[in-house]
Amino acid sequence: MDSLYGMAPAELAGALSLFPAYRARQVYRWLARGAASFDQMSDLPASERGRLSALYPSIPSSAPGAELADEDGSLKLQIRLADGAAVECVLLEDLEGRKTACLSCQVGCPMGCAFCKTGSLGYLRDLSAGEIMEQFHFLSLRRGPISNVVFMGMGEPMANLGAVRKAISVLSDGVGMSLRKITISTSGLVPGILELAQAGPAVRLAVSLTAADEELRSSLMPVNKTYGLGSLKAALASYQAATGERITLECAIMGGVNASAMSARSLLDWIGSLKVQVNVIPWNKVPGLPFSEPSRQELESFMSVLEAAGVVASRRMRRGRGVMGACGQLGDTLKY
Ligand code: SAH
Ligand code: SF4
Repeated sequence: MDSLYGMAPAELAGALSLFPAYRARQVYRWLARGAASFDQMSDLPASERGRLSALYPSIPSSAPGAELADEDGSLKLQIRLADGAAVECVLLEDLEGRKTACLSCQVGCPMGCAFCKTGSLGYLRDLSAGEIMEQFHFLSLRRGPISNVVFMGMGEPMANLGAVRKAISVLSDGVGMSLRKITISTSGLVPGILELAQAGPAVRLAVSLTAADEELRSSLMPVNKTYGLGSLKAALASYQAATGERITLECAIMGGVNASAMSARSLLDWIGSLKVQVNVIPWNKVPGLPFSEPSRQELESFMSVLEAAGVVASRRMRRGRGVMGACGQLGDTLKY
């Protein structure tokens, strides 16, 4: 059975034999606020609290492990799942004090991107919606209210869309977070993008484009061999037509690989009339992977091609680097 934190009220009613119906909604609200025991749920009758506490002395199914706090305010948490597997999640705080939870959705990742630490570790299993929500609660317990969620931790959200959708529904309906504060980042699994475009939820979409040259992208991201740049662009156009929102393109930039002005120009050509913003992420070092960080000069010339064309481009802050909590660096401890 999934952790209670990922359940909708009707599921809670069934799993916990809650009656009358509004009881399930009460429990749901407590869980959405991160309550870790039924004793806390002060608006339940004492007898009901007693019954449920006996069933679940502690509600979370996973347990926080090592905590690594960076000087820049970010916090990386390792989480031990009930079956012994482990994932990581990160809380990032920006200069305005806004807190963003970066959550994992799989133990490892099946997509095998050449430059990514998580990808190099392989894939063990999907997380459930409850396991995803528990990461959120563990982070907010330590750092207070969280304003944004990004699915940019370990794993590919479109390859576990059912659980990610369920978690998003709890975040929006239970926690009260606007869908516009939630971002799914995908390596470009086209069927998932189309499904979201058709059926929602209308969250923000980020795509790890990395390179707009077909051959280069296929060599860096195997997903491109199945869903090439043409079908990816068509899917993004559908998503944009459905939501009206700008799409974020993430480009992890590796020295001498996809950092040239020519790479930036092919990116511009590919973008065409899509409304996007580009996050240029200087590659974070991953020991053992055959890439290098881009030079300052490479980054500047890449950015200046985009800026000259009027594309909104930002060089993403390297927050979390001190705790290996930055993009593509998650996955120290995922083995059983
Ligand atoms: N699987 C999803 C979400 C998690 S990856 C996806 O790929 O979109 C989060 C981001 O980190 C992706 O944009 C990825 O391209 C980037 N990334 C991966 N490894 C990196 C590294 N070593 N340095 C910088 N960015 C990296
Ligand atoms: Fe998986 Fe994303 Fe890493 Fe690719 S970049 S291996 S999709 S986590």
